[in-house]
Amino acid sequence: MCVSAGRIDGPGEPLNVPPVFASSFRTGGEHDYARNEGTPTWAALEDAVGRLEGGTATAYASGMGAVAAIVDLLPPGSRVVVPWDSYTAVRHLVAARGHTVDLQDITDTEATLSKADGAALLWLESPTNPLMDVADLPALCAADTLVAVDNTFATPLLQQPLTFGADIVMHSGSKYIGGHADLLMGLTVTADPELVDRMRALRVLSGATPGGMEAFLATRGLRTLPLRVRQAQESAGELARRLEQHPRVTRVRYPGLPGDPGHTRAAKQMSGFGAMLSFEVAGDAAAADALCAALTVVNAATSLGGVESTIERRARLAGQEHVPPSLLRLSVGCEHVEDLWADLDAALRA
Ligand SMILES: *Cc1c(COP(=O)(O)O)cnc(C)c1O
Repeated sequence: MCVSAGRIDGPGEPLNVPPVFASSFRTGGEHDYARNEGTPTWAALEDAVGRLEGGTATAYASGMGAVAAIVDLLPPGSRVVVPWDSYTAVRHLVAARGHTVDLQDITDTEATLSKADGAALLWLESPTNPLMDVADLPALCAADTLVAVDNTFATPLLQQPLTFGADIVMHSGSKYIGGHADLLMGLTVTADPELVDRMRALRVLSGATPGGMEAFLATRGLRTLPLRVRQAQESAGELARRLEQHPRVTRVRYPGLPGDPGHTRAAKQMSGFGAMLSFEVAGDAAAADALCAALTVVNAATSLGGVESTIERRARLAGQEHVPPSLLRLSVGCEHVEDLWADLDAALRA
């Protein structure tokens, strides 16, 4: 479906929907003004991602644009349950909109469900960034409140939260869907027609609309998502096993490792363990920084989900005080696994 969805049918039509660079369309057709009705380029991306997640997708200028569209559904002064280690900007946005942020360890299913009771929104993320914790999504998505799941790490290929009963799925398309670290994009997906209407109306008002080139590139990236994820995931599993044995590594978190605290849950709710992992380097933050500086194949850079591997010491960022100082988040890309290992091993030994 990644390859075939979102195309135009008919003799003489281009195989791919081209980037349409138009703000304004001639009166009398389906499109009038791009901010209101979108463009055929956005529609192709939304069609493809919607089919993959099992709902109707809406595209935004960035992942945070998509988060904002969900948060803006809430009445003023709402209480929102947010994972204590969620993507940091989510917490900040909920607070900035004047809602109460109720932080919760979402690996504790019972406590999360009791906190979700009476809240306006339960925000979920699994696996979490960067600790790689896994929440029991089938149990939590059944909560009797609005449930939104940030599915950026898993991608629509490995996990479909709407099938567990989530109301809304959110993606930063800047990561795996785009896949080449060359665009910003956000998406929401829901199977509830009323929510689709409300979010589309909010997009018109907020103007958090994707660019024509970005929507084109995101669809083009999506075409190879299965290939990229398969390759990167296989390498991630191999690197996680080798890192676990390395004398200079004290801890590895990857849900695919049989001993990982999230393994049993992930095996039940995901069709693969993904290509994100984190590990702690023996020594302090300076040792982890030195390792990043010594790497030549893996890129010391923020963000994730690209064909190029990226590594980052997350505790260097504000709002990451809960993250161990020497923890490195590794987004495994599509380089040859032996090139990646040689690079990591040499930098660890240096
Ligand atoms: C990057 C990211 C976001 C924010 O998306 P942007 O496209 O950067 O706005 C949200 N959640 C997760 C898990 C992310 O990795």
